[in-house]
Amino acid sequence: MKLFKCQHCGQLLYFENTLCERCGHALGFDASTLNLLTLETQGDGIFTDVARPHDHYRYCGNAQHEACNWLLPVADGNTFCAACKLNRTIPNLNIPDHAQRWRKVEIAKHRLVYTLLQMGLAITSKTEDEQAGLAFDFLADLHPEQKVMMGHEEGLITINISEADEAKRIRTREKLGEAYRTLLGHFRHEVGHYYWDRLIRDDAQKLTAFRQWFGDESMDYGEALNIYYQNGAPSNWSDNFVSAYASAHPWEDWAETWAHYMHIMDTVETAHAFGMRIDPAAAANRDKLSAEYATDPLLIDDFKDLMDMWLPLTMAVNSLNRSMGQPDLYPFVIAPPVIEKMSFIHRVCKANQQNPHWQTATV
Ligand SMILES: [Zn+2]
Ligand SMILES: [Zn+2]
Ligand SMILES: [Zn+2]
Repeated sequence: MKLFKCQHCGQLLYFENTLCERCGHALGFDASTLNLLTLETQGDGIFTDVARPHDHYRYCGNAQHEACNWLLPVADGNTFCAACKLNRTIPNLNIPDHAQRWRKVEIAKHRLVYTLLQMGLAITSKTEDEQAGLAFDFLADLHPEQKVMMGHEEGLITINISEADEAKRIRTREKLGEAYRTLLGHFRHEVGHYYWDRLIRDDAQKLTAFRQWFGDESMDYGEALNIYYQNGAPSNWSDNFVSAYASAHPWEDWAETWAHYMHIMDTVETAHAFGMRIDPAAAANRDKLSAEYATDPLLIDDFKDLMDMWLPLTMAVNSLNRSMGQPDLYPFVIAPPVIEKMSFIHRVCKANQQNPHWQTATV
């Protein structure tokens, strides 16, 4: 993610901030410029941007629940912002646990939508296009025997809000033997299925290229998952797949690889925003482990150049995490076939940029 700063006092800000901690100005995110704006209140819920005082905004309808800090122009007739208009079902907010979990779900969802906008991919809500649009159901288990299944079906993504409960999520991660499990990871995986439908499914040429890297997705999906859950992944899965689960079926391989592609694009964008440079003088293979993050990753054409930046970054941040007694930030090794798959995703995404914010956005 890029870096944001207060337009009044220059303080660096997080994407989720609603107030500048230094000068107290209200903040709101403008999805049309991908910028966090510093606001001056005009009363009646109307705000102006201190940098462009003629622009008038109000907060998204979910701001009243402390679940969103995105803005809408006053003239916009919608109640919800570009990220929240995708919500079809939210949990019962009268249950305090559910409200709290939903807020965590929203943090991950807003980061997902930010990166999709930054990548320039079309985001259409099901309220605008029932057939090809995207929608979210954020649901809670009502009975222990009736678990909400997470997944994607024809543009509808279901997230079980119990995944926002850290203790529960860690138990599930350990039970499934996963190296990584986060809400943001769930969103990136499920939206990968959605964009497969949009960008690959109905394009014969892309489908042929997809099969070259990911295999034939026409094999029985339910049967493939049954086999995976019965026998697990092949012992050499890491030679070809980014995760064990990716070996279950070409669709899951695509969604897992897509999620990692988004992890990489977002993390390198952050390294770029911070002007990071890695140069481990002690390393024997110093040239392979050195990198400068001088270029916005979205402007890099060849994904392999991005991978040359990714390895030094993961070595450095994994080492930083270990210094704090934390698990590795990126506990994965990317094999050459996975790089080819990600290169394919990078090419597909670049070819489908609808609204390339990065070409016009000013920081
Ligand atoms: Zn400030
Ligand atoms: Zn919103
Ligand atoms: Zn999946």
